Amino acid sequence: MKAGYVALIGRPNVGKSTLLNNILGQKVAIISDKPQTTRTSILGMKTTEKGQIIFVDNPGIHKPLHKLNKRMMNIVFSSLETSDLLCLLIDATLKFGHGDQFVIDTLHDVTTPVFLLINKVDIIKKEKVLLIIDKYKDMMDFKEIIPISALKGTNVDVLEDMIYNHLPETDKTYADDDISRQSERFLLSEIIREKILSHVREELPFVTAVYIDTIEDRGIMEKHPKKRRLKYLKATIFVEKDNHRKIIIGRHGSLIKSVGIEARKEMEKILDAKIFLDLQVKVKERWRDKANVLDLIERQ
Ligand code: GDP
Ligand code: MG
Repeated sequence: MKAGYVALIGRPNVGKSTLLNNILGQKVAIISDKPQTTRTSILGMKTTEKGQIIFVDNPGIHKPLHKLNKRMMNIVFSSLETSDLLCLLIDATLKFGHGDQFVIDTLHDVTTPVFLLINKVDIIKKEKVLLIIDKYKDMMDFKEIIPISALKGTNVDVLEDMIYNHLPETDKTYADDDISRQSERFLLSEIIREKILSHVREELPFVTAVYIDTIEDRGIMEKHPKKRRLKYLKATIFVEKDNHRKIIIGRHGSLIKSVGIEARKEMEKILDAKIFLDLQVKVKERWRDKANVLDLIERQ
């Protein structure tokens, strides 16, 4: 039996969370086309007859400006040395730049073996992949270089096989049917944040945080044809300024209404219940630099 920790690392937006969800066949991490979507490390376990891979999805590697981002980077740094294997993802559609060099420099003194995963090959030409391999192969001693599409699942099975080749012989840590370690509250708050991210631009994704205040079971709906459960869920959306609040609410409340509908639909599937979702937007100046707010959100 083989088992171990595999950290997914790389710049923001390269597809780390997409890969984790694809491998697990279930959403454990939210996805967006905005950078810095993932703010904490997210564990996802895949157990097969070969053993158990414990994936650690991480925030994207970037230069931190706020306390929030410093915490995010500390999470990444600690998983570099504590993992059995690192999977460095890059976005094949982008040119090599300062951000990529920063990632390579970050890994310079790390002794953990590294795979290079060239992601998003579904939308580029084969020749381009060869050029990327050529550029990267001398930068570091990559144990494997694998072109993948996290979105389409291309080569993901090959990746899993290669991961097993590099994992130590040891016992499983988690039960076979354990898929994630995040609390239900955390997932629900992330779903709300994902829906917000799909509607906003510019600095809004960075200044938005979601906290679930209450989840109340309101019993069975006797009149419902399927006799579904009813749950009341209250969440607070934190932003930093009043104009952020206005954007999130939208004209005549249109944006927050869309967010509410989209989040509720997904939550109803996950919780198998009818949800009454109560969303509030609160201005908390400079929350990204306030330890008490960060602690609150982190602990949910
Ligand atoms: P992360 O920040 O590294 O976790 O990146 P995400 O998983 O949130 O993905 C960022 C964006 O890239 C999203 O819009 C994804 O749909 C997109 N994406 C991720 N993987 C692929 C892929 O293999 N192909 C394509 N075309 N898009 C992808
Ligand atoms: Mg992510």
